[in-house]
Amino acid sequence: MQLYRAPWVIPVATPPIQDGAVLVQNGNILKVGTFYALKGMAPLTTDYEDSVITPALVNGHCHLELSHLARLGQEGNWDGNMAAWIKKLLALRDQLVDADVVTEAREALASLHASGTGLVCDVGNGIDSAEIGNSSSAEVCFLLELLGLSQFGEQRARESLEEAIRQGKNDGDGLDCTPHAPYSCTTGLLKMVKEDSRRRGGLFSIHVAESEDEIEFLQTATGRLRTFVEERGAWDGSFQPPGCGAVEYLENLKVLDAHTLCVHSVHISDQELSLLAQRNAKVCVCPGSNRYLGVGVAPVMKMISHGILPAIGTDSLASNPGLNLWEEMRILREDHPGIDPKTLFTMATQAGAAALGREEYGTISPGKTGRMLAVQCRADRGSDVMDLLTTMGSEAEVSWIA
Ligand SMILES: [Zn+2]
Repeated sequence: MQLYRAPWVIPVATPPIQDGAVLVQNGNILKVGTFYALKGMAPLTTDYEDSVITPALVNGHCHLELSHLARLGQEGNWDGNMAAWIKKLLALRDQLVDADVVTEAREALASLHASGTGLVCDVGNGIDSAEIGNSSSAEVCFLLELLGLSQFGEQRARESLEEAIRQGKNDGDGLDCTPHAPYSCTTGLLKMVKEDSRRRGGLFSIHVAESEDEIEFLQTATGRLRTFVEERGAWDGSFQPPGCGAVEYLENLKVLDAHTLCVHSVHISDQELSLLAQRNAKVCVCPGSNRYLGVGVAPVMKMISHGILPAIGTDSLASNPGLNLWEEMRILREDHPGIDPKTLFTMATQAGAAALGREEYGTISPGKTGRMLAVQCRADRGSDVMDLLTTMGSEAEVSWIA
């Protein structure tokens, strides 16, 4: 049994505690309260002076296997042109075909963990990428990404799904799969992956409404994404544009529920926000990546007013200079000056855990995992703490408590 004490403890689900302490046994939290109330309950107390104790952060969306393409996330001015960015990404990937993808991904994962992220949802195209998180200090929820917009593409994706299922020893084991996006998958593929994820009780994460080009493609099957798909030889004319927004499309396909995670959700209407709220679907915003690609700003304040508290993701190093959630919080405050800092910090912790269905993370409360951070921070009042935590960005100095 061990007691951890700091000038402030941020339980997240309850207000900040001044001169707080957390009692931990075998990696699990037993009690949280003031030091006065908990002192003497453990033989040993560790003091974190000038620090704030918080839960580990949760990154709701990343692609670690693209870490060797970090060069792409640091240069370029994309101005919302997703097709141009994807083209560049594919070209760079071909150019770096001899790169040690897994080693570079593990290095990125180590720095993600060092910055305070304890749990990350990682989406990858390669079955080998499922091993990136093996023996990492951060916990990785891996999802194998499938895509295919033509009949041939759908068939290939179906074979990958069957291969992913075979990776398991028992029925229901195997790798969880996820479709890339509404504009890169047939309706058959979207339904097939959802059916598989329902069967195994897994997470159905999908890029949704990331760019205006995506909405144009879904409305009329025209624009830069149509040209791109044709150039790739992936257009066989079988895709019928649904003629609506991305969320409405997913609703019509009956794939929206509490285990669906809509990543990005930048270009969605008020009616679509209501649909997401009705279905209790989860949202993950990626502010740093959206800013880098110039695709727009997700309507976070509207989401909150619809009762949707989004998780936060970094997306990959190919569209973001870093995988640092403190920086994502800083960007969100810039993009949404009216956002309450406490709500924002809840997004980076509790909402992330809820989005991934991993509620043992995200708060400091009895029964939850004792994976906590000591964040260097001097503050006098409760509200100042939240203000500081959400504005320090990549300057945050973090050490792991456990
Ligand atoms: Zn992504």
